[in-house]
Amino acid sequence: MRILISNDDGIYAPGIQALAEIAAELGDVTVMAPDVEQSSMGHAVTHSRPLGYKKSPVEFKSGEAYRVNGTPADCVALGTHLHADTDVVLSGINMGPNLGNSIWHSGTLAAARQAVLLGFPGIALSTPVGKDGVDFAKLRPFVKECLEMLLPVKGPHLFNINFPPEPKGIRWTSQSVRLYDGTIIPGLDPMGRKHYWFTVTPLEPAEEGTDRWAMENGLVSITPLQLDLTDHRYLSAQL
Ligand code: MN
Repeated sequence: MRILISNDDGIYAPGIQALAEIAAELGDVTVMAPDVEQSSMGHAVTHSRPLGYKKSPVEFKSGEAYRVNGTPADCVALGTHLHADTDVVLSGINMGPNLGNSIWHSGTLAAARQAVLLGFPGIALSTPVGKDGVDFAKLRPFVKECLEMLLPVKGPHLFNINFPPEPKGIRWTSQSVRLYDGTIIPGLDPMGRKHYWFTVTPLEPAEEGTDRWAMENGLVSITPLQLDLTDHRYLSAQL
């Protein structure tokens, strides 16, 4: 099995090292990740300048690794162009959860979604970061179990997986779409100039069976996603 791995935290992130190491036990791994962090870039693609890639400055024991001067979606487009025999694309493990409405701006999700747009299965993996970082040893058996479950899936299916810090089990979930507050917090930079931080706070409790609910209950959340954004209920009322 040929596995292409990307992320949005960049080639130096500890999460992509951890994922590549686990994936190497399941197949041949190629890593193509952004040369700088691209978190919250969403599905941006580079079309006004050429893309390039170089050997990764950090070593990956799992196999070939490259840094790309582009976005997460660029990395997957380039990686699958160079390796058309790719069986699955993994994105992560993101340092930060990707739950509910954050799916809209996540670069981690976009990398997996780019795979699906090109006809490959795509799996996004994310975990929250605590005060002491991420204990990947605790996640490892659950990451492996999820991959063993999903890697046999053929065709352009998209999965969003989130791992709590100390998983108690694994649940299939739906995406939480309850309201959240995209708040702008003003502050001052060291020169006394105004600047602004975009922050997100959920405004409503998570619905049972959703990704947010599973994570609040210490469960690994696997959400199967689809690309069709059509509001079918509204559409059928017009026809
Ligand atoms: Mn990220």
